[in-house]
Amino acid sequence: MDTKQGQTRARGRFAPSPTGSLHLGSALSALLAWLSIRSKNGTFILRIEDVDPPREVTGAVPGIIEDLHWLGLDWDEGPDIGGPYGPYFQSGRHDIYADTIRRLARQRLIFPSTASRSELAELNIDSQRSATFFPKKLRPDRNTEPGWYQELDKLVGSHALRFVVSEDPITFIDRWSGPQSSVLADVCGDFVVRRKDGLYAYQLAVAVDDGLMEMTEVVRGRDLASSTFQQCAVMDSLGLGRPEYAHGPVICDENGGKLSKSRQSLMICSLREAGVDPRKIVGFLAAQAGIIPEYEILSPGELIKSYKNASIRVNDIILRDPELDVLQ
Ligand code: GLU
Repeated sequence: MDTKQGQTRARGRFAPSPTGSLHLGSALSALLAWLSIRSKNGTFILRIEDVDPPREVTGAVPGIIEDLHWLGLDWDEGPDIGGPYGPYFQSGRHDIYADTIRRLARQRLIFPSTASRSELAELNIDSQRSATFFPKKLRPDRNTEPGWYQELDKLVGSHALRFVVSEDPITFIDRWSGPQSSVLADVCGDFVVRRKDGLYAYQLAVAVDDGLMEMTEVVRGRDLASSTFQQCAVMDSLGLGRPEYAHGPVICDENGGKLSKSRQSLMICSLREAGVDPRKIVGFLAAQAGIIPEYEILSPGELIKSYKNASIRVNDIILRDPELDVLQ
């Protein structure tokens, strides 16, 4: 790992999925992750999470890169500039995920499963559990199962691979929300790490990449906080060092829902095309997140000092139309 004067150099990332343009919520996640790293002279990484081709939108990656640059954010490693920890597109990292799957199989930490979403939903219908909860009773006996793990490729098309969760709590300390704990066996059960169609699951790819890219911190929206437990479970079982986690506010619309793509006018590309000053967006997001007390027109670089002393808001930001007037 990079060291500076004997200290570990901070490494953080923004990791968008190319499922569309950036909106105000993803721009805020990027800004917070960037400020956290730039405020400690660390290395900032852009990683494109394109593990799910059917959900991908053509042209999304160049659009995201353009939007980030336009907002005044830069990075030291990424798909467009390379770096020592590449590839920075997850689609270029399939061999790494396949190796990881083999390793987890050898450790008997995963198993093949044919349970479909609808079967699980049916099974969980009378419980408080989520429709996708995978109960332990469906887990095959690890000692009597035949040698499926030697023929992992043959399972594509018929079986998903699920991770064996522990009954013990997984804990981490969120930089902004404090101690967090969850027992995955009660919350989600054994979760999918490779889908039936052979695509690697988000939880696996993120955990492996954050570990192998030696991230020292993961700053992202609070909507991903519950995924952290699954990612920690994967990292722990692979002996990968965990980063520090910091989950910031999520931007919601007036109905309390996550800001949706239907609000096309709030997409960063739409604001850019409408000729809005990007520093207005940056200042608006900074004020909403508690980095500055009041709205000001500022660039990301001008926020570094305030960020260092700020107490970041963690609860949802509900956008109401009058507040958005400053983005004209
Ligand atoms: N790729 C994920 C998304 O765009 C974010 C992953 C992460 O930050 O861990 O929602």
